[in-house]
Amino acid sequence: MSNPCALPSLALPPTEAELLGLPKLEKQLARRLGDANATYKLIEDQDRILVGVSGGKDSWALLDLLERLRHRAPVKFSVEAVTVDPGFPQFNPDPIAEVCERLGVPHHVIPAPIDKMVRTKPEELPCIICSRLRRGVLYSFAKTHGFTKIALGHHLDDLIETLLINLLFGGRLSTMPMRLVSDDGANTVIRPLGTCEEKDLQRYAWLRGFPIVPCGCPLCGCSSLESRRKQVKELIATLEPSIPQLKASMLGAMGNVKLSHLLDLKLGALQAQGMDEALERLG
Ligand code: SF4
Repeated sequence: MSNPCALPSLALPPTEAELLGLPKLEKQLARRLGDANATYKLIEDQDRILVGVSGGKDSWALLDLLERLRHRAPVKFSVEAVTVDPGFPQFNPDPIAEVCERLGVPHHVIPAPIDKMVRTKPEELPCIICSRLRRGVLYSFAKTHGFTKIALGHHLDDLIETLLINLLFGGRLSTMPMRLVSDDGANTVIRPLGTCEEKDLQRYAWLRGFPIVPCGCPLCGCSSLESRRKQVKELIATLEPSIPQLKASMLGAMGNVKLSHLLDLKLGALQAQGMDEALERLG
């Protein structure tokens, strides 16, 4: 839930000189998306992809890059956009619908009573309940309408921050995977921007002139989960000048887990079941 007001340098429309950098940035993001796609098998032939578009920079970049990929990819797939309407009075999905129409992408709006939840359960980590609610309506819409994948706009910074939040506050080692099949097997979530940096996506959406649509939530910027995320963001920003490869290294680490050198007893149970060889191979 980014706050566009926090980006003063991007508050004005880009100049002609700034727009000259767009093709290079697009190429760089498209390459990252292509590499992630090849590595994690995100998009397959005949996929019907439902893209979550909140009206934030990441979701615009995702929709635009996927739509461009669709025209040149060797596999055939379709893209449709969906916006979850959280019910806040200030939220207006019309600008999202207008841009989708301009892009020629079918757009759906599905309601979720997040406003009521935020008003009645502010003490129960509302952001966690909110994301569960959003996921629930997305899963059910995708399943009912025959979509094979749900694409979300989480990026590398989201993956790294989630890893650190879970590690530092939640006592577990996990992040948002690039590809996740739901417990009942009915939905597959993909994160094609998982190797792209937030600052690049922010710049891309700005250069493309996409409207940033605020979700209208009164907790934006002040919930406990957001304050944890802010803390972790500050930690990364503090470390980055002295460890310039920090994000690349953390991305590498998330894909290079030495299972046998962790403390999870469930891994020991796997070994006892005769999976030593598999674990050995995994490191
Ligand atoms: S800030 Fe509001 S809209 Fe954003 S995740 Fe939290 S409850 Fe949901």
